[in-house]
Amino acid sequence: MSEPQLRVLPGAKFSCQGCGKCCTGFSFGPVEPQVIQNLIDQDMASKWPPAQEAPWYHEHTGPDGPDGTPVFSLAHRDGHCVFLRPDKLCAIHAELGESAKPWFCREYPVRIVQDAKGLTATIRADCGGFSASYASGQPLDNQLQAALSLPRPVSYPHFDPEHVEVLPGVAISPENWLELESPLMAKVKAGGAGQGIVTLRQVLSKVTGRTLPAPSPAAATQVLAYAITQLRPQVEAKLAGLLPENPVPKAEQDPDFYRHVLLSDLLSKRFAAVGSLPAGLGLTLLEVQLAESLGGPNHLAQVQRLVQIPQNWNAIKTAKATLTQLFLAWPADWPETAG
Ligand code: SF4
Repeated sequence: MSEPQLRVLPGAKFSCQGCGKCCTGFSFGPVEPQVIQNLIDQDMASKWPPAQEAPWYHEHTGPDGPDGTPVFSLAHRDGHCVFLRPDKLCAIHAELGESAKPWFCREYPVRIVQDAKGLTATIRADCGGFSASYASGQPLDNQLQAALSLPRPVSYPHFDPEHVEVLPGVAISPENWLELESPLMAKVKAGGAGQGIVTLRQVLSKVTGRTLPAPSPAAATQVLAYAITQLRPQVEAKLAGLLPENPVPKAEQDPDFYRHVLLSDLLSKRFAAVGSLPAGLGLTLLEVQLAESLGGPNHLAQVQRLVQIPQNWNAIKTAKATLTQLFLAWPADWPETAG
C-alpha cells in the first residue's frame, strides 16, 4: 500500500483579516469538553460580560453524543458567537490566548478532507478574508502543521462515496476519481489564466467519450434565474434583483481568482455534497455569478455563507438537475469572458 499523501492546493494562502465573519452565522461546536472546563476554571464569564447574561455554552446529549457523551457548543448572541467582541476580535483569545479556543476556531479556514490517498488541504472560500488572503496571505503550507496538530474531537470529513458521477449518467469509482483528479486539475492549470469550465467540460468529454451539448447562453440565463428562485425567499429578495441584464457581465479582477476557487472545489471534493461533479460545478458557477452580481470576488464568501444557511442548502440539494444544466449550458469559462 502506498504512503498516505498530504496534498495542498498550490497557491492556497491565508492571513486573518480580522473581519469576525468566521464567528458569525455558523454553529459553534462540537467544543472539546476540556476547553469548556478550562473556560469555567478560568472564570471566563467574569471576564466577558455577555457571557453572564445567559448561558454561554450549550450541552447536547442523546444522538449528538456517541454513547451519550455530552456534546458542547458555544452560544450565540445576536447571530454571532457569544465571545465575539465589537472590535471583531475574540474575547477568549484576548483574555486567555489562542490555545484556550475550541479546535474549530483554530483550524478555520483550513479545510482538510480525508480520502483514500491521504489528506487534502485547501482554504475555505466562505472565510470573509478569502479574496484578500488569496492576494497577499501567507502560504498555507507554512501553516498546515499547526492545523494538523489540533486536538480534533471529530474525524476529518471523509470522501468515500459509492461512485462519482462525472457527467450526467457517467459514474466512476472513487478510486478512479482520485486517479483522474490530478490530471484534470493540471489541465485546467495548464490552460492559462482564466481557464476553468470550458476546459473541464472538454477534458471530461474526452475521458468519458461522451459528446456534450453545445453551451447555450440563453439556456444558462434561464437556468441561472431558476436556480436562484430555488433559494429561500429572503435570499431571493436580496439577490434576484441583482441579476444583471447581461447574465455574464465583465468584471475587472484577477482572472486566476475563480480558477483557484474551481481547483479548490475539485481538490476538497466540495462537489460531492450536491450529488455529482456537474452539479457541484454548477453550484460553483452559481456562486461566482452571484458574487459578480454583488460586486466581485470579495463577495464570494458572503454568497457561500448564504448558501450554507440550512434552508438554502436544502434547496440547493434538491436542485441537482438545475445545477447540472447550468454547468452544461454555461457559455464560457467565467463571467468576465462570456458574452
Ligand atoms: S470562540 Fe472566539 S474565535 Fe471561536 S467563534 Fe467564538 S469569538 Fe470566534
